[in-house]
Amino acid sequence: MLDNLTTRLAKVVKTMRGEARLTESNTAEMLREVRMALLEADVALPAVREFIAKVKEKALGEEVISSLTPGQALVGVVQRELGALMGADLGADASQLSFAQQPPAIILMAGLQGVGKTTTVGKLAKYLKEQKKKKVLTVSADVYRPAAIAQLQSVTAQVGADFFPSTAQDKPVDIALAALDWAKKHHHEVLIIDTAGRLGIDEEMMKEIAAVHGAVKPIETLFVVDAMLGQDAINTAKAFNDALPLTGVVLTKLDGDSRGGAALSVRHITGKPIKFAGVSEKLDGLEAFDPQRMANRILG
Ligand code: GDP
Repeated sequence: MLDNLTTRLAKVVKTMRGEARLTESNTAEMLREVRMALLEADVALPAVREFIAKVKEKALGEEVISSLTPGQALVGVVQRELGALMGADLGADASQLSFAQQPPAIILMAGLQGVGKTTTVGKLAKYLKEQKKKKVLTVSADVYRPAAIAQLQSVTAQVGADFFPSTAQDKPVDIALAALDWAKKHHHEVLIIDTAGRLGIDEEMMKEIAAVHGAVKPIETLFVVDAMLGQDAINTAKAFNDALPLTGVVLTKLDGDSRGGAALSVRHITGKPIKFAGVSEKLDGLEAFDPQRMANRILG
């Protein structure tokens, strides 16, 4: 079991008491520990570097009140800054979904295969139906895997939302437009479009999802990313962020044993709010993302 950050820093600063300010010299070793803790939490290196620089800038010159050790003072700065970076300073509204003035509000789901996109569509449909009292339609634009279409149909039925059937012979853009047409005619307030995901980043797939985005102009484009992905999350996030104007992120599989460093990497690349966290395979396993809790988890 890894020591948590407070314990690690306490070890480093045992010999250093009674200093009145955080300085370059009394924080250098502690910042190395913070860096190690973040790398162990699987945060990608560029995100670690940016974060350490920010903490350093905030910490230097900070007064250490007499009841604290410099280590405790630095942990305070780290927790505050990480919480802010996770989105605490974006305000509670940042994690809310937007709804179009003219229904239906379209939500486009993006992400690699296996990250939990289809499951998340089911979870979102349930949340929107039960908590927001919306009439929801789902559709799959994954024309490569008939099983994916059947899976979406099944999760949609489980949560009692409506499903627009598509087939592997259709084109993703045509599917999305037909579903939109249907949603308008049948007064759905939300249309959630699931998309194909490959196992790795793929230019054709990016073009295809960008075309779907251009055709239906969703109000929300959610990037779904698996917390267990670790450092790889940064490359995936970059590819999707370059291809699409993302509006938010869903971080899945937070019930796994990863520290969740992917959250920091994804925020570093996209700057977009993490709106939801997936916390189980079940369709009620979706929570509003809690930035400070995530910060504490990453720090261990
Ligand atoms: P997709 O290929 O992105 O559509 O991914 P799926 O929705 O098919 O999910 C892939 C696997 O991840 C399935 O076994 C899901 O049950 C599982 N899964 C999805 N979200 C979560 C989650 O938040 N926690 C856990 N433990 N498993 C999840």
